[in-house]
Amino acid sequence: MLTALHRLYAELLRGLAFGRVADHLDVSDLDRDAAVWNLEPIVDNQGEAGALRLLDQARSRAEALRAELAGRLAQLEVDALVSAVGELTEIRELLSRASGYGRMRGYADSADPTAGALQGAAEAAQAEIDAQLMFFELEWVALDEARAEALLAGAGDQLDFAAHHLRHLRARRPYLLSHEQERILAETSVQRLSAWKRLYSENAARLTAEIDGDSVPMTQALSLLGSPARDQRLQAMAAIADGAAAGLPTRVAAYNQVLGEKGVDDRLRGYPTWLSSRNLANETTDAAVEAMLAAIGARYDLPQRWNRLKARLLDVERLATSDLRAPLSRVERPVPFRETRQLIASAWSSLSPRAGAIIDAFFAQGLIDAAIRANKQAGALCAQAGASSHPYVLLNYDSRPRDTMSLAHELGHGLHFELARAQRALQCRTSIPMMEVASTFSEALIAQHLMASAADDRERLALLSARLDDAMLNVFEGCALVSAEAGMHRHRREHGELSAEELSEIWTTSLSNLWEDTIEIEEGTRLLWSLIPHMIWEPGYLYSYSYGLLTAWSAFARYKQVGDGFAEDYLAMLAAGGSRSPEELVAMVGLDVNDPGFWNAGLDLLDGMLKDAEAVAATL
Ligand SMILES: [Zn+2]
Repeated sequence: MLTALHRLYAELLRGLAFGRVADHLDVSDLDRDAAVWNLEPIVDNQGEAGALRLLDQARSRAEALRAELAGRLAQLEVDALVSAVGELTEIRELLSRASGYGRMRGYADSADPTAGALQGAAEAAQAEIDAQLMFFELEWVALDEARAEALLAGAGDQLDFAAHHLRHLRARRPYLLSHEQERILAETSVQRLSAWKRLYSENAARLTAEIDGDSVPMTQALSLLGSPARDQRLQAMAAIADGAAAGLPTRVAAYNQVLGEKGVDDRLRGYPTWLSSRNLANETTDAAVEAMLAAIGARYDLPQRWNRLKARLLDVERLATSDLRAPLSRVERPVPFRETRQLIASAWSSLSPRAGAIIDAFFAQGLIDAAIRANKQAGALCAQAGASSHPYVLLNYDSRPRDTMSLAHELGHGLHFELARAQRALQCRTSIPMMEVASTFSEALIAQHLMASAADDRERLALLSARLDDAMLNVFEGCALVSAEAGMHRHRREHGELSAEELSEIWTTSLSNLWEDTIEIEEGTRLLWSLIPHMIWEPGYLYSYSYGLLTAWSAFARYKQVGDGFAEDYLAMLAAGGSRSPEELVAMVGLDVNDPGFWNAGLDLLDGMLKDAEAVAATL
């Protein structure tokens, strides 16, 4: 679920950042058109029937595992534990293959009826299997510390594929309720919290906005905020405000329920703050996250400086919120898909021939879907159907320079997922704050090559501008949203339910603290909080982007400092997947997230990028 949500958010915000405007460049490109996915190896070339067979196997193996072990975990010896965890891993793998296959068929063609049916079947199987296997997690966490550690020590490297995962599960131990209470909460969650979240999402998904007399989906109106034409952006923002008012009381009521239930849950479990459970899941601490948020909060001068410069470049007195995603240049040279392939593969090869070969294989083996066609998923993403499958990348390659960056981003994820396959199903994915490190690092690497080969200062400035927009969005706006969320959770806990007006006020106050007088906050912006899925689905999620970006830049700076020796350490860090904590992973490339200067180092790099932009702009 987290991966799907991660994609949802990425799609929304990256879509805005890169301004997917409806007017395609319409360049003919045979290489791009030939780049389509071959998903069949995931299901052993047996199509729908193969996927359904995987689900059946997963179901019957889960049933058997439950029959054999439920209620008996405390008595297991080392060998039995190793084989039980192995079986658990295999079951998760079967599920991921089938559900990933169905989901990706849907991305490739939303009108494919088989894709919809497979996703439904996979969701049902997932819910059933989660219920069957819930005993394992509850009983494992209930073991006393000495017993659990003795089992893990006894298993030694036989449990390398799961030891970190098993230890991480136990980190929640101090906050667990009784076994029976946990079971009831888990089994009723669909009728409680998830029901409110679904109501909210269904309401949000139906929203439309009126553009030029036509009613269009809200996502399309949001994408118009990336239009080069200012009047179009202003019109879109006004239309978004009108459209977002529909169904608002329902979304406000649902969000209040979510805030309320989280307050009760945190109190019963004894979490010290509203963000503590998120931090624990992210394998970090309240103190570390507070230090990062404070470091970012102390550098609001950076987005403010960028806003002033961008206003000058766009030739307006002061930016409005609808200008934030505006691209700098109107005229762009189309970049053929073949050229992008060449650029990305050779940039990676120059860092490491091994990484370059992996990246090139994505192009050669049908792992990239780049064509533009009807019924295809908008935006860009990287998906994987279990650790036994290669990762796949999707984008709508429109021959613009930003598509090169988008592909570099997704291939960064792709390289990471490919290298981490050996960690198997339970540990192939790193924890969320580390998710964007590989993608951001890849963007930084490609940007360096693009900057070096830019034709002139205007092209360089357009490149810098796109990167600065992206950085301000992900590092600063992400944290401003978390601080708005903090205010909302606090208010709900101290004063009860919030009105729509109170929610909007907390949100806009947080944005005006960020921007001060450098941005005119339009009326339409006030309701945007009610369109961000993560505030309801995954409270506090958004700081992960700041964490990932700042860490990636520090890693890139380290690469420039260390040179050739860096590459193998970096690839080893990616290959470790989720088998270590973020802190341990980052240490593998010589960085220390607990160093008080760590976050400032990343912010200083951003400062450097901004200074470059200011210097180039001064010469134009
Ligand atoms: Zn990403």
